[in-house]
Order: sequence, then C-alpha cells, then structure tokens
Amino acid sequence: AILATVLRGGPAKIYRADLEQAIDKLLHIELPKADLIQGSNLTALRDIIAVLRHLNPLNNNGQELLTNLHGFLLPINRLTGSEFADLVKSTEKKLEGNVFKAKRYVGCIASRPFLRGFTCSLWTLFHYLTVAAAKPPYYLQAGSVLSAIHGFAKHFFGCRDCADHFLALAERKHIDRVTDHDAEILWLWEAHNEVNKRLAGDTTEDPKFPKIQFPSKKYCPACSNENSHWNRTEVLKYLKIIYDNKNLSPYGLP
Ligand code: FAD
Repeated sequence: AILATVLRGGPAKIYRADLEQAIDKLLHIELPKADLIQGSNLTALRDIIAVLRHLNPLNNNGQELLTNLHGFLLPINRLTGSEFADLVKSTEKKLEGNVFKAKRYVGCIASRPFLRGFTCSLWTLFHYLTVAAAKPPYYLQAGSVLSAIHGFAKHFFGCRDCADHFLALAERKHIDRVTDHDAEILWLWEAHNEVNKRLAGDTTEDPKFPKIQFPSKKYCPACSNENSHWNRTEVLKYLKIIYDNKNLSPYGLP
C-alpha cells in the first residue's frame, strides 16, 4: 500500500523517514564498521558529524546527540569503530525520548528485497544537505558537504564498488574546486545523474523505479528543453524546492 501511494505521489516528495533512516544507519552501522579511526579517517568522521550537526533534519534529541558526538570527537586522537558505536548508544541513553522514530523507508521503499533502501536514502540525505547548506545563515563553507561526502566515500562507505566509482567521478569532475553553495547543489545533481546513466538497466535497478535523468520533464518541464538540454537555473530552483526542509513529508504516508 505504501509503495502504491509513493508511486502515485511521484518523485517530487522527500520523506523525513528516509533522511532519518540514512542518519540512523550511518551512525549505528556504516561508521562503526571501521576498525581503527585515526588520522585521515578521523578527520572524515569529524567532517560528517560536523555537517550533520549543523544541517540535520532530526528532532531536538537528534540535535543534542550530534552536538555531543561532535564535542566528543574534537579532542581525541583515535578510537575504534565499536567505541564509536558505544558512544552513540550511551549518548542516546542519556537523552529523554527517541532520536529515531522512522522504522522503515518510505520514498526509498523497494518493490522487492535487496534494492533501494539505504543507498537511496543516502543520496536523498546528501541532496538535502547540499540544499540546506545553501540557506542563510550559511553554517558551513561552500564545498563542506561535498568534502564530507568524499571523505565518507573514501573511508567508510560499505559499498566499495560505489565508493570507488564515486571517487573516480569526484576526481574527474573536480569536486574540490566547488566554491559556492549553488554550484555544490548542482555538482551533486550532475554526479548523481552520471551514476543513474551508468546504472540504467543494471540488475540493481528496481523496475518500479527506473533510473532516469533527473528531474523528469513530467515533474519539471522547465528544467530541460525539447533537445533535452538542461536549464541549470531551473534545475537549481527545482532542487531547492523539493529538498527544502519545508517540503519534507512527515513520517509514514504522504
Ligand atoms: P537513487 O539513485 O538511489 O536515488 C534516490 C532518489 O534521489 C531517487 O528516487 C530520486 O527521487 C532522487 N534523484 C535521482 N537522481 C537525482 C539527481 N540527479 N539529483 C537529485 N535527486 C535525484 N550502485 C551501484 O550498483 N554501483 C555504483 O557504482 C553505485 N555508486 C553509488 C555511489 C553513491 C555515492 C551512492 C550514494 C550510491 C551508489 N550506488 C551505486 C547506489 C545507486 O546509486 C542507487 O542508490 C541504488 O541503485 C538505488 O537506486 P534508486 O532507484 O533507489 O534511486
């Protein structure tokens, strides 16, 4: 029933549940997989937590959790992945009430097992973060979100194939040369479309959610012309609308 509703709602809705699931799985599963966190992967961990601390869509408890994690990581020189997992759990225990309410994916729900889910929620979170970073009061320098995503891919992303492809793409498309917030949003949009193109028709594609060059003409007619050339100004406007905090659909159904 949820799948049918999501399909009817189209791709223009972003669900709070998916963003929560992405952060939940990052903190509890993906980041703790590292054996030893020190040096460059500690920097990468600090960067992800710093970005999430400023731009997360969580409730007050979530904000407190991320602020505490951020403070804890600043002075230390090393920790293990399982120590990080323990830290997350013990910090959560001290809070009154739950941080994570979402129990399943909504916009990222798959039509059959082993598809979509976590990686879909990660992309959703990453786009959300680039859009949030572009809004005053500009908590973070332009390029910080991409830099944190790059560090995550390099040091933590469990899908090593995904990470290797992404790192190669990042180098080819000069991820480190992005110097303004709008360009940061568009860089990620374009990178994601490259990934979509490469994976279209792949066995990992959910037939109910075909890989398209996003956004489709149906949902943003002004985003491309009749020759399928992008109008980047319109694409930027569209991304800023759909990935805006105000556009988030609440838990569960739209
Ligand atoms: P996803 O591609 O996960 O997209 C999620 C949602 O984002 C879509 O439903 C849509 O609403 C929106 N969206 C789609 N395109 C755009 C865009 N251009 N801009 C803004 N929003 C958009 N899988 C592999 O098999 N091989 C890989 O090499 C690989 N590399 C990856 C690299 C990264 C960094 C990530 C996060 C994932 C990678 N994956 C890879 C997983 C893959 O990209 C998809 O996440 C997975 O196949 C599920 O696809 P999906 O249909 O749920 O849509």
